[in-house]
Amino acid sequence: MSIRTLDDLLAEGVAGRRVLVRADLNVPLDKQTGDITDDGRIRAVLPTLTALVEAGAKVVVCSHLGRPKGSPDPQFSLRPVAGRLGELLGVEVRFAEDTVGDSARSTVEGLADGQVALLENLRFNAGETSKDDAERGDFADQLAAFGDAYVDDAFGAVHRKHASVYDVAARLPHFAGGLLLREVEVLSKLTGDPERPYVVVLGGSKVSDKLAVIEALLPKVDRLLIGGGMCFTFLKAQGHEVGSSLLEEDMVETCRNLLERSEKGKILLPVDVVVADAFAPDSPHDVVPADGIPSKRVGLDIGPETVAGFAAALKTSACGDPANARTIFWNGPMGVFEMAAFANGTRGVAEAIAEHDAFSVVGGGDSAAAVRVLGLDEKSFSHISTGGGASLEYLEGKTLPGIAALEN
Ligand code: ADP
Ligand code: MG
Repeated sequence: MSIRTLDDLLAEGVAGRRVLVRADLNVPLDKQTGDITDDGRIRAVLPTLTALVEAGAKVVVCSHLGRPKGSPDPQFSLRPVAGRLGELLGVEVRFAEDTVGDSARSTVEGLADGQVALLENLRFNAGETSKDDAERGDFADQLAAFGDAYVDDAFGAVHRKHASVYDVAARLPHFAGGLLLREVEVLSKLTGDPERPYVVVLGGSKVSDKLAVIEALLPKVDRLLIGGGMCFTFLKAQGHEVGSSLLEEDMVETCRNLLERSEKGKILLPVDVVVADAFAPDSPHDVVPADGIPSKRVGLDIGPETVAGFAAALKTSACGDPANARTIFWNGPMGVFEMAAFANGTRGVAEAIAEHDAFSVVGGGDSAAAVRVLGLDEKSFSHISTGGGASLEYLEGKTLPGIAALEN
């Protein structure tokens, strides 16, 4: 990979230079209070920012947050993130009220060496995500005017052909941050020649979101364990009724094909599930066999027997021989972990992975959040990816615009 890195930039010397850093500060916010519920992504970019601050750069940070529709929307303001970033960095972060307007210009102009500014949400500007090259380019010109060099450390956004990810790199000397490099290094191990047995655990809400990655990984893995909302489409494909659980009718045939095509024992599905009367935190619930889901109930988690089976599968090969998994990739919660009553499956499987002495990677925004929200020790996993869609697209073998732009 012919990518210049943050270390290369630091070696050139950045004292007094303006460095535009694309970070991924797209943190989850509490819908009621607006508080940051998980600051993992902020913490992940601290090493890059600290290195630039210590080297005396004028650091201009930009990011998106949520999905505003191309114009300012207060609920998606990065202001609370500026506060938290400042606390964690131990340096004041000057917040610009807009992204490329008067406030941004004066904030950037006012930076002294070693000071940090955060621009308002990139996606308050239609040019950021525009499909029109000229419109994106125009916005990229304005952003690029704030930097003498560009560092991309927003791994979570590299699969997007957005102005701040793709077009700015073409306009400034460009470098990859440490977080982005580490992500690529880890994920390339999973696509290259992972140490076997290689077990992938998939969950989350939809099969359709993950189909491409299932197709790409299936030939490479020894076992594929499937839980979460997507397991019901597979159970249906096996001929079971799934009540009012999440079901993608139009994917049933595809799932049936996947099951038929793969060797026996390679794909593991739940044997029991937690069903509730309704999709609600306090709904009455029971554990039932996966082939006996009552017609009016909704499956919201995998059951305890499945958790035990999945944990055991990490310790046996597909043909049943004892064989500790050497590589584990986990993407997608096993149940609706946001509700305590349906978090046991996710916690149980996550703990089994964490206890395992394998190269273990967690991918997916909600999965990474689950690790932290459920209070698991992040250090017991080899790597927790900051990129949800980006890590999946990387594993699918796609060319990611943000990485391609750094290679040029
Ligand atoms: P990730 O972001 O880790 O890739 P996804 O976005 O695919 O994961 O899925 C996460 C969501 O899946 C969570 O919000 C979780 O509540 C939901 N989910 C998991 N199991 C179920 C289920 N049985 N029914 C409905 N939703 C589920
Ligand atoms: Mg998600």
